Amino acid sequence: MEARLLKRISGFSKSMLDKTRTMLSSNAPAPVALIVPRAEHPVSRKLISHNALKVLNRLHEGGFAAYLVGGGVRDALVGLKPKDFDVATNASPEEVKALFRNSRIIGRRFRLVHVVYGRDIIEVATFRAAHNKGDGGEIGESGRIVRDNVFGSIEEDALRRDFSVNALYYNIADHSIVDYTGGLEDIDGKVFRLIGDPVTRCEEDPVRVLRAVRLASKLEFDIDEKTLSAMSKTAHLLADVPPARMFEEVLKLFQGGYAQRSFHAVREHELLVYLFPLLHKRLQANESAELMSMLNAALKNTDKRVAQNKPITPAYLLAFMLWPDVEERARKAIADGAHIGDALHGAADEVMAIQLKAISIPKRFSGPMREIWLLQPRLEQWRGNRSLKLLENRRFRAAYDFLCLRAKTEPLLTPVARWWTELQELDEEAQAEFAVNKPTVSGLWGGNAPGAARSKKRRRRRSTKKTAAKKTPSDVSKKQGSDG
Ligand code: ATP
Ligand code: MG
Repeated sequence: MEARLLKRISGFSKSMLDKTRTMLSSNAPAPVALIVPRAEHPVSRKLISHNALKVLNRLHEGGFAAYLVGGGVRDALVGLKPKDFDVATNASPEEVKALFRNSRIIGRRFRLVHVVYGRDIIEVATFRAAHNKGDGGEIGESGRIVRDNVFGSIEEDALRRDFSVNALYYNIADHSIVDYTGGLEDIDGKVFRLIGDPVTRCEEDPVRVLRAVRLASKLEFDIDEKTLSAMSKTAHLLADVPPARMFEEVLKLFQGGYAQRSFHAVREHELLVYLFPLLHKRLQANESAELMSMLNAALKNTDKRVAQNKPITPAYLLAFMLWPDVEERARKAIADGAHIGDALHGAADEVMAIQLKAISIPKRFSGPMREIWLLQPRLEQWRGNRSLKLLENRRFRAAYDFLCLRAKTEPLLTPVARWWTELQELDEEAQAEFAVNKPTVSGLWGGNAPGAARSKKRRRRRSTKKTAAKKTPSDVSKKQGSDG
Protein backbone atom coordinates (compact mmCIF):
# COMPACT_ATOMS: atom_id res chain seq x y z
CA MET A 1 0.00 0.00 0.00
CA GLU A 2 2.68 2.45 1.07
CA ALA A 3 4.89 1.40 -1.79
CA ARG A 4 2.07 2.02 -4.22
CA LEU A 5 1.41 5.44 -2.78
CA LEU A 6 5.03 6.36 -3.09
CA LYS A 7 5.11 5.10 -6.64
CA ARG A 8 2.28 7.41 -7.54
CA ILE A 9 3.98 10.24 -5.77
CA SER A 10 7.23 9.56 -7.52
CA GLY A 11 5.63 9.45 -10.95
CA PHE A 12 4.02 12.74 -10.19
CA SER A 13 7.15 14.10 -8.64
CA LYS A 14 9.24 13.26 -11.69
CA SER A 15 7.36 15.64 -13.95
CA MET A 16 7.37 18.26 -11.21
CA LEU A 17 11.04 17.71 -10.70
CA ASP A 18 11.82 18.23 -14.37
CA LYS A 19 9.89 21.45 -14.13
CA THR A 20 11.79 22.40 -10.99
CA ARG A 21 15.10 21.70 -12.66
CA THR A 22 14.14 23.76 -15.70
CA MET A 23 13.19 26.62 -13.45
CA LEU A 24 16.40 26.33 -11.50
CA SER A 25 18.55 26.37 -14.58
CA SER A 26 16.70 29.33 -16.03
CA ASN A 27 16.74 32.62 -14.17
CA ALA A 28 13.51 31.93 -12.35
CA PRO A 29 13.54 33.32 -8.80
CA ALA A 30 12.42 30.29 -6.84
CA PRO A 31 11.72 26.62 -7.47
CA VAL A 32 8.19 25.29 -7.65
CA ALA A 33 7.24 23.00 -4.83
CA LEU A 34 5.69 19.62 -5.24
CA ILE A 35 2.99 19.38 -2.58
CA VAL A 36 1.77 15.91 -1.73
CA PRO A 37 -1.49 15.87 0.24
CA ARG A 38 -1.85 13.74 3.38
CA ALA A 39 -3.88 11.07 1.62
CA GLU A 40 -1.01 10.38 -0.74
CA HIS A 41 1.95 9.94 1.59
CA PRO A 42 2.67 7.60 4.50
CA VAL A 43 3.80 10.13 7.14
CA SER A 44 1.19 9.98 9.86
CA ARG A 45 1.08 11.94 13.10
CA LYS A 46 1.53 8.64 14.94
CA LEU A 47 5.12 8.57 13.70
CA ILE A 48 5.85 12.01 15.13
CA SER A 49 6.72 12.39 18.79
CA HIS A 50 4.22 13.97 21.11
CA ASN A 51 6.60 16.81 21.95
CA ALA A 52 7.40 17.58 18.33
CA LEU A 53 3.67 17.77 17.59
CA LYS A 54 3.19 20.11 20.55
CA VAL A 55 5.86 22.45 19.18
CA LEU A 56 4.46 22.33 15.64
CA ASN A 57 0.91 23.01 16.82
CA ARG A 58 1.86 25.86 19.12
CA LEU A 59 3.80 27.60 16.33
CA HIS A 60 0.88 27.07 13.96
CA GLU A 61 -1.63 28.45 16.46
CA GLY A 62 0.71 31.41 16.99
CA GLY A 63 0.23 32.26 13.33
CA PHE A 64 3.58 30.96 12.08
CA ALA A 65 4.45 28.45 9.40
CA ALA A 66 5.66 25.24 11.04
CA TYR A 67 7.17 22.20 9.38
CA LEU A 68 8.87 19.03 10.42
CA VAL A 69 11.99 18.67 8.30
CA GLY A 70 15.11 16.58 7.82
CA GLY A 71 15.83 13.10 9.09
CA GLY A 72 12.45 12.75 10.84
CA VAL A 73 10.47 13.16 7.62
CA ARG A 74 12.97 11.14 5.58
CA ASP A 75 12.97 8.22 8.01
CA ALA A 76 9.18 8.19 8.28
CA LEU A 77 8.92 8.09 4.48
CA VAL A 78 11.16 5.04 4.19
CA GLY A 79 9.37 3.24 6.99
CA LEU A 80 11.98 3.71 9.73
CA LYS A 81 10.94 4.96 13.13
CA PRO A 82 12.21 8.56 13.27
CA LYS A 83 14.43 9.30 16.27
CA ASP A 84 14.91 13.03 16.30
CA PHE A 85 12.55 15.73 15.13
CA ASP A 86 13.66 19.03 13.72
CA VAL A 87 11.22 21.85 13.20
CA ALA A 88 11.57 24.68 10.68
CA THR A 89 9.53 27.86 10.91
CA ASN A 90 9.27 31.42 9.66
CA ALA A 91 9.23 32.65 13.27
CA SER A 92 12.49 34.28 14.38
CA PRO A 93 14.42 32.66 17.26
CA GLU A 94 13.11 35.42 19.55
CA GLU A 95 9.52 34.80 18.46
CA VAL A 96 9.94 31.07 19.07
CA LYS A 97 11.45 31.71 22.45
CA ALA A 98 8.50 33.93 23.37
CA LEU A 99 6.09 31.08 22.59
CA PHE A 100 7.82 28.48 24.77
CA ARG A 101 8.78 29.07 28.37
CA ASN A 102 10.83 25.87 28.27
CA SER A 103 13.13 27.08 25.51
CA ARG A 104 16.52 28.64 25.01
CA ILE A 105 18.35 30.16 22.06
CA ILE A 106 21.60 28.35 21.29
CA GLY A 107 24.42 28.33 18.77
CA ARG A 108 26.54 30.83 16.99
CA ARG A 109 27.21 29.19 13.65
CA PHE A 110 23.49 28.40 13.53
CA ARG A 111 21.17 30.20 15.90
CA LEU A 112 18.50 27.75 16.94
CA VAL A 113 15.92 27.40 19.64
CA HIS A 114 15.88 24.32 21.83
CA VAL A 115 12.48 23.54 23.28
CA VAL A 116 13.20 21.34 26.25
CA TYR A 117 10.91 18.62 27.60
CA GLY A 118 13.00 16.89 30.25
CA ARG A 119 15.57 14.88 28.32
CA ASP A 120 13.78 15.36 25.01
CA ILE A 121 14.84 18.42 23.03
CA ILE A 122 13.03 19.67 19.94
CA GLU A 123 15.22 21.82 17.76
CA VAL A 124 13.45 24.74 16.11
CA ALA A 125 15.26 26.57 13.31
CA THR A 126 14.16 29.68 11.47
CA PHE A 127 14.16 29.27 7.67
CA ARG A 128 17.59 30.15 6.42
CA ALA A 129 18.81 31.45 3.08
CA ALA A 130 22.07 30.66 1.35
CA HIS A 131 25.06 31.85 3.36
CA ASN A 132 26.16 34.18 0.54
CA LYS A 133 22.99 36.21 0.63
CA GLY A 134 22.74 39.14 3.04
CA ASP A 135 25.36 39.79 5.68
CA GLY A 136 24.72 37.09 8.28
CA GLY A 137 26.81 34.51 6.43
CA GLU A 138 30.51 34.16 6.21
CA ILE A 139 32.79 32.00 4.11
CA GLY A 140 36.20 31.08 5.44
CA GLU A 141 39.30 29.60 3.82
CA SER A 142 38.81 26.86 1.20
CA GLY A 143 35.19 27.86 0.69
CA ARG A 144 33.97 26.75 4.09
CA ILE A 145 30.91 28.26 5.75
CA VAL A 146 31.80 29.72 9.13
CA ARG A 147 28.60 31.60 9.87
CA ASP A 148 25.18 30.86 8.51
CA ASN A 149 22.52 33.11 9.97
CA VAL A 150 20.76 34.67 7.02
CA PHE A 151 17.05 34.13 7.45
CA GLY A 152 15.06 33.37 4.35
CA SER A 153 12.05 31.66 2.83
CA ILE A 154 11.20 27.98 3.02
CA GLU A 155 12.40 27.54 -0.58
CA GLU A 156 15.76 29.01 0.32
CA ASP A 157 15.86 26.87 3.44
CA ALA A 158 15.33 23.75 1.34
CA LEU A 159 18.13 24.60 -1.08
CA ARG A 160 20.73 25.08 1.64
CA ARG A 161 20.15 21.66 3.16
CA ASP A 162 22.57 18.90 2.20
CA PHE A 163 20.71 16.08 0.43
CA SER A 164 17.43 16.15 -1.45
CA VAL A 165 15.96 13.46 0.81
CA ASN A 166 16.86 15.61 3.83
CA ALA A 167 14.99 18.63 2.46
CA LEU A 168 11.42 17.35 2.69
CA TYR A 169 8.97 19.33 4.80
CA TYR A 170 5.89 18.06 6.60
CA ASN A 171 3.45 20.94 6.94
CA ILE A 172 1.50 20.88 10.21
CA ALA A 173 -1.14 23.19 8.69
CA ASP A 174 -2.49 20.58 6.26
CA HIS A 175 -0.25 17.53 6.88
CA SER A 176 1.07 17.66 3.33
CA ILE A 177 4.67 17.05 2.30
CA VAL A 178 6.46 19.81 0.48
CA ASP A 179 9.36 18.99 -1.84
CA TYR A 180 11.53 21.63 -3.53
CA THR A 181 14.49 19.47 -4.47
CA GLY A 182 13.24 16.18 -5.88
CA GLY A 183 13.64 14.48 -2.52
CA LEU A 184 10.57 12.30 -2.95
CA GLU A 185 11.85 10.93 -6.20
CA ASP A 186 15.19 10.19 -4.55
CA ILE A 187 13.45 8.49 -1.63
CA ASP A 188 11.75 6.30 -4.17
CA GLY A 189 14.99 5.60 -6.04
CA LYS A 190 16.89 5.15 -2.74
CA VAL A 191 19.59 7.70 -3.54
CA PHE A 192 21.46 10.34 -1.64
CA ARG A 193 22.02 13.33 -3.89
CA LEU A 194 23.59 16.60 -2.82
CA ILE A 195 21.44 19.61 -3.61
CA GLY A 196 23.10 22.06 -6.01
CA ASP A 197 26.64 21.77 -7.32
CA PRO A 198 28.07 18.82 -5.41
CA VAL A 199 31.71 19.96 -5.36
CA THR A 200 30.76 23.40 -4.03
CA ARG A 201 28.51 21.82 -1.41
CA CYS A 202 31.33 19.54 -0.19
CA GLU A 203 33.82 22.41 -0.14
CA GLU A 204 31.40 24.53 1.89
CA ASP A 205 31.21 21.78 4.49
CA PRO A 206 33.40 18.70 4.04
CA VAL A 207 31.50 16.89 6.80
CA ARG A 208 28.81 16.38 4.15
CA VAL A 209 31.15 13.76 2.66
CA LEU A 210 30.94 11.77 5.88
CA ARG A 211 27.23 12.44 6.22
CA ALA A 212 26.61 10.97 2.77
CA VAL A 213 28.47 7.80 3.70
CA ARG A 214 26.80 7.54 7.08
CA LEU A 215 23.25 8.22 5.97
CA ALA A 216 23.55 5.99 2.91
CA SER A 217 24.67 3.19 5.27
CA LYS A 218 21.87 3.93 7.68
CA LEU A 219 19.16 3.81 5.03
CA GLU A 220 20.93 1.36 2.74
CA PHE A 221 20.64 3.86 -0.10
CA ASP A 222 23.03 4.44 -2.99
CA ILE A 223 24.94 7.66 -3.47
CA ASP A 224 24.31 9.54 -6.70
CA GLU A 225 27.22 9.38 -9.14
CA LYS A 226 27.95 13.11 -9.31
CA THR A 227 27.72 13.37 -5.55
CA LEU A 228 30.10 10.43 -5.28
CA SER A 229 32.66 11.95 -7.58
CA ALA A 230 32.48 15.29 -5.72
CA MET A 231 33.02 13.39 -2.49
CA SER A 232 36.20 11.75 -3.66
CA LYS A 233 37.50 15.08 -4.99
CA THR A 234 36.93 16.86 -1.70
CA ALA A 235 37.43 14.14 0.93
CA HIS A 236 40.94 15.45 1.70
CA LEU A 237 39.30 18.57 3.20
CA LEU A 238 38.16 16.37 6.09
CA ALA A 239 41.72 16.57 7.40
CA ASP A 240 41.07 20.22 8.33
CA VAL A 241 37.68 19.79 10.00
CA PRO A 242 37.96 20.62 13.70
CA PRO A 243 38.50 17.38 15.68
CA ALA A 244 35.51 18.16 17.92
CA ARG A 245 33.13 18.21 14.94
CA MET A 246 34.70 14.99 13.66
CA PHE A 247 34.06 13.39 17.03
CA GLU A 248 30.35 14.28 16.79
CA GLU A 249 30.21 12.56 13.42
CA VAL A 250 32.04 9.51 14.75
CA LEU A 251 29.44 9.21 17.50
CA LYS A 252 26.67 9.30 14.90
CA LEU A 253 28.48 6.80 12.69
CA PHE A 254 28.92 4.22 15.41
CA GLN A 255 26.08 4.76 17.86
CA GLY A 256 23.07 4.83 15.58
CA GLY A 257 22.58 1.07 15.47
CA TYR A 258 24.30 0.65 12.08
CA ALA A 259 27.94 0.76 13.16
CA GLN A 260 28.93 -2.31 11.17
CA ARG A 261 27.59 -0.92 7.91
CA SER A 262 29.06 2.52 8.67
CA PHE A 263 32.52 1.13 9.31
CA HIS A 264 32.63 -0.80 6.07
CA ALA A 265 31.25 2.14 4.10
CA VAL A 266 33.86 4.45 5.65
CA ARG A 267 36.56 2.04 4.51
CA GLU A 268 35.03 1.59 1.09
CA HIS A 269 35.03 5.36 0.57
CA GLU A 270 38.62 5.58 1.85
CA LEU A 271 37.71 7.83 4.75
CA LEU A 272 39.09 5.75 7.63
CA VAL A 273 42.35 7.68 7.47
CA TYR A 274 40.50 10.85 8.61
CA LEU A 275 38.89 9.09 11.55
CA PHE A 276 41.40 6.51 12.78
CA PRO A 277 44.72 7.13 11.03
CA LEU A 278 46.62 4.39 12.86
CA LEU A 279 44.01 1.74 12.22
CA HIS A 280 43.87 2.83 8.60
CA LYS A 281 47.62 2.41 8.22
CA ARG A 282 47.52 -0.98 9.88
CA LEU A 283 44.74 -2.29 7.66
CA GLN A 284 46.49 -0.92 4.57
CA ALA A 285 49.63 -2.81 5.51
CA ASN A 286 47.88 -6.01 6.41
CA GLU A 287 44.17 -6.60 6.54
CA SER A 288 44.46 -9.50 8.93
CA ALA A 289 41.45 -11.72 9.29
CA GLU A 290 41.88 -11.77 13.09
CA LEU A 291 41.81 -7.99 13.38
CA MET A 292 38.81 -7.67 11.08
CA SER A 293 36.97 -10.32 12.98
CA MET A 294 37.66 -8.61 16.32
CA LEU A 295 36.50 -5.26 14.96
CA ASN A 296 33.42 -6.78 13.38
CA ALA A 297 32.53 -8.48 16.63
CA ALA A 298 32.85 -5.17 18.51
CA LEU A 299 30.76 -3.29 15.94
CA LYS A 300 28.14 -6.02 15.89
CA ASN A 301 27.99 -6.06 19.66
CA THR A 302 27.40 -2.28 19.67
CA ASP A 303 24.62 -2.57 17.10
CA LYS A 304 23.03 -5.35 19.09
CA ARG A 305 23.02 -3.28 22.27
CA VAL A 306 21.46 -0.33 20.44
CA ALA A 307 18.77 -2.62 19.02
CA GLN A 308 18.04 -3.89 22.53
CA ASN A 309 17.95 -0.34 23.93
CA LYS A 310 20.86 -1.16 26.23
CA PRO A 311 23.19 1.66 27.25
CA ILE A 312 26.32 2.06 25.14
CA THR A 313 29.45 4.10 25.61
CA PRO A 314 31.73 5.31 22.82
CA ALA A 315 34.67 4.38 25.07
CA TYR A 316 34.18 0.69 24.33
CA LEU A 317 34.28 0.90 20.54
CA LEU A 318 36.98 3.57 20.50
CA ALA A 319 39.06 1.35 22.78
CA PHE A 320 38.84 -1.39 20.13
CA MET A 321 39.75 0.87 17.23
CA LEU A 322 42.96 1.90 18.96
CA TRP A 323 43.81 -1.32 20.77
CA PRO A 324 45.97 -3.00 18.08
CA ASP A 325 48.33 -0.03 18.14
CA VAL A 326 48.33 0.28 21.91
CA GLU A 327 49.07 -3.42 22.15
CA GLU A 328 51.85 -3.34 19.57
CA ARG A 329 53.59 -0.34 21.13
CA ALA A 330 53.27 -1.84 24.60
CA ARG A 331 54.85 -5.08 23.37
CA LYS A 332 57.80 -3.17 21.98
CA ALA A 333 58.28 -1.32 25.26
CA ILE A 334 58.14 -4.64 27.13
CA ALA A 335 60.78 -6.06 24.81
CA ASP A 336 62.88 -3.01 25.72
CA GLY A 337 62.52 -3.88 29.37
CA ALA A 338 59.45 -1.94 30.51
CA HIS A 339 56.98 -3.41 32.94
CA ILE A 340 53.65 -4.24 31.36
CA GLY A 341 51.64 -1.57 33.20
CA ASP A 342 54.14 1.14 32.36
CA ALA A 343 54.35 -0.09 28.81
CA LEU A 344 50.59 0.12 28.38
CA HIS A 345 50.44 3.61 29.88
CA GLY A 346 53.18 4.84 27.57
CA ALA A 347 51.60 3.19 24.54
CA ALA A 348 48.22 4.72 25.39
CA ASP A 349 49.81 8.19 25.61
CA GLU A 350 51.46 7.83 22.22
CA VAL A 351 48.43 6.43 20.46
CA MET A 352 46.09 9.04 21.95
CA ALA A 353 48.41 11.88 20.93
CA ILE A 354 48.14 10.75 17.30
CA GLN A 355 44.43 10.01 17.49
CA LEU A 356 43.45 13.36 19.02
CA LYS A 357 44.76 15.18 15.96
CA ALA A 358 42.04 13.50 13.89
CA ILE A 359 39.11 13.40 16.27
CA SER A 360 38.89 14.82 19.73
CA ILE A 361 37.89 12.37 22.45
CA PRO A 362 36.53 14.03 25.59
CA LYS A 363 38.23 12.99 28.82
CA ARG A 364 35.05 11.35 30.05
CA PHE A 365 35.60 8.75 27.32
CA SER A 366 39.39 8.63 27.02
CA GLY A 367 39.66 7.97 30.77
CA PRO A 368 37.51 4.84 30.62
CA MET A 369 39.31 3.70 27.45
CA ARG A 370 42.61 3.70 29.31
CA GLU A 371 41.02 1.93 32.23
CA ILE A 372 39.71 -0.79 29.92
CA TRP A 373 43.19 -1.23 28.41
CA LEU A 374 44.96 -1.21 31.74
CA LEU A 375 42.61 -3.83 33.13
CA GLN A 376 43.48 -6.32 30.39
CA PRO A 377 46.74 -7.66 31.85
CA ARG A 378 45.18 -7.68 35.32
CA LEU A 379 42.28 -9.78 34.11
CA GLU A 380 44.78 -12.06 32.40
CA GLN A 381 47.18 -12.47 35.30
CA TRP A 382 45.82 -11.60 38.69
CA ARG A 383 44.73 -14.54 40.80
CA GLY A 384 43.10 -15.27 44.14
CA ASN A 385 41.66 -12.38 46.13
CA ARG A 386 43.27 -9.84 43.87
CA SER A 387 41.33 -11.17 40.93
CA LEU A 388 38.08 -11.11 42.91
CA LYS A 389 38.69 -7.47 43.77
CA LEU A 390 38.59 -6.70 40.05
CA LEU A 391 34.88 -7.58 40.07
CA GLU A 392 34.30 -4.36 42.01
CA ASN A 393 36.15 -2.19 39.52
CA ARG A 394 33.74 0.22 37.85
CA ARG A 395 35.13 -0.73 34.42
CA PHE A 396 35.06 -4.45 35.12
CA ARG A 397 32.09 -5.13 32.87
CA ALA A 398 33.49 -3.24 29.88
CA ALA A 399 36.97 -4.68 30.41
CA TYR A 400 35.59 -8.20 30.69
CA ASP A 401 33.57 -7.77 27.48
CA PHE A 402 36.73 -6.43 25.88
CA LEU A 403 38.70 -9.47 27.02
CA CYS A 404 36.04 -11.84 25.65
CA LEU A 405 36.21 -10.22 22.22
CA ARG A 406 40.00 -10.33 22.28
CA ALA A 407 39.72 -14.03 23.11
CA LYS A 408 37.80 -14.60 19.90
CA THR A 409 40.96 -13.92 17.94
CA GLU A 410 43.62 -14.84 20.51
CA PRO A 411 43.33 -18.50 21.55
CA LEU A 412 45.74 -17.95 24.46
CA LEU A 413 43.00 -15.90 26.11
CA THR A 414 40.22 -18.46 25.79
CA PRO A 415 40.71 -20.26 29.14
CA VAL A 416 40.96 -17.05 31.14
CA ALA A 417 37.95 -15.44 29.43
CA ARG A 418 35.96 -18.59 30.13
CA TRP A 419 37.10 -18.53 33.76
CA TRP A 420 35.81 -14.97 34.21
CA THR A 421 32.48 -15.94 32.67
CA GLU A 422 32.12 -18.92 34.98
CA LEU A 423 33.24 -16.94 38.02
CA GLN A 424 30.39 -14.49 37.64
CA GLU A 425 27.87 -17.30 37.79
CA LEU A 426 29.06 -18.44 41.24
CA ASP A 427 28.04 -17.24 44.69
CA GLU A 428 30.60 -15.44 46.84
CA GLU A 429 31.80 -18.48 48.76
CA ALA A 430 32.34 -20.54 45.65
CA GLN A 431 34.09 -17.64 43.99
CA ALA A 432 36.82 -17.56 46.64
CA GLU A 433 37.57 -21.20 46.04
CA PHE A 434 37.38 -20.81 42.28
CA ALA A 435 39.82 -17.89 42.36
CA VAL A 436 42.63 -20.09 43.67
CA ASN A 437 42.70 -22.08 40.48
CA LYS A 438 42.46 -19.23 38.03
CA PRO A 439 44.31 -19.96 34.81
CA THR A 440 46.84 -17.32 33.83
CA VAL A 441 48.05 -16.38 30.42
CA SER A 442 51.66 -16.52 29.49
CA GLY A 443 53.55 -15.68 26.35
CA LEU A 444 51.07 -13.07 25.21
CA TRP A 445 53.11 -9.98 25.93
CA GLY A 446 56.44 -11.27 24.77
CA GLY A 447 59.73 -12.23 26.41
CA ASN A 448 60.09 -10.89 29.90
CA ALA A 449 56.48 -9.89 30.43
CA PRO A 450 53.96 -11.62 32.65
CA GLY A 451 53.86 -12.74 35.11
CA ALA A 452 57.59 -11.92 35.07
CA ALA A 453 58.67 -10.27 38.29
CA ARG A 454 59.01 -6.53 38.22
CA SER A 455 62.66 -5.62 37.82
CA LYS A 456 63.24 -2.60 40.03
CA LYS A 457 66.63 -1.93 38.57
CA ARG A 458 65.31 -1.86 35.04
CA ARG A 459 62.40 0.31 36.01
CA ARG A 460 64.47 2.90 37.71
CA ARG A 461 66.81 3.17 34.79
CA ARG A 462 63.91 3.67 32.40
CA SER A 463 62.36 6.33 34.59
CA THR A 464 65.46 8.49 34.83
CA LYS A 465 66.00 8.28 31.13
CA LYS A 466 62.55 9.59 30.39
CA THR A 467 61.88 12.19 33.10
CA ALA A 468 63.84 14.85 31.30
CA ALA A 469 61.59 14.73 28.27
CA LYS A 470 58.14 14.11 29.69
CA LYS A 471 56.16 12.48 32.41
CA THR A 472 57.23 8.86 32.56
CA PRO A 473 54.76 6.07 32.18
CA SER A 474 55.57 4.94 35.71
CA ASP A 475 54.69 8.39 37.07
CA VAL A 476 51.33 8.13 35.40
CA SER A 477 50.77 4.67 36.71
CA LYS A 478 51.53 5.80 40.25
CA LYS A 479 48.98 8.57 39.95
CA GLN A 480 46.22 6.43 38.51
CA GLY A 481 46.76 3.43 40.71
CA SER A 482 49.62 1.03 40.36
CA ASP A 483 49.67 -2.00 38.21
CA GLY A 484 50.55 -5.45 39.34
P1 ATP B 1 20.02 11.46 11.54
O1 ATP B 1 19.17 10.31 11.18
O2 ATP B 1 21.42 11.07 11.75
O3 ATP B 1 19.48 12.34 12.63
P2 ATP B 1 19.58 13.80 9.93
O4 ATP B 1 19.51 14.01 8.46
O5 ATP B 1 18.35 14.12 10.70
O6 ATP B 1 20.06 12.33 10.17
P3 ATP B 1 20.81 15.81 11.52
O7 ATP B 1 22.24 16.03 11.82
O8 ATP B 1 19.85 15.53 12.61
O9 ATP B 1 20.79 14.63 10.47
O10 ATP B 1 20.34 17.07 10.67
C1 ATP B 1 18.98 17.43 10.47
C2 ATP B 1 18.82 18.08 9.11
O11 ATP B 1 19.59 19.29 9.02
C3 ATP B 1 19.30 17.25 7.92
O12 ATP B 1 18.33 16.33 7.52
C4 ATP B 1 19.57 18.32 6.89
O13 ATP B 1 18.38 18.78 6.29
C5 ATP B 1 20.15 19.44 7.72
N1 ATP B 1 21.62 19.34 7.84
C6 ATP B 1 22.32 18.71 8.82
N2 ATP B 1 23.64 18.82 8.63
C7 ATP B 1 23.80 19.53 7.50
C8 ATP B 1 24.94 19.99 6.77
N3 ATP B 1 26.17 19.70 7.18
N4 ATP B 1 24.71 20.72 5.65
C9 ATP B 1 23.45 21.01 5.24
N5 ATP B 1 22.36 20.60 5.87
C10 ATP B 1 22.50 19.88 6.99
MG1 MG C 1 18.25 14.15 12.73
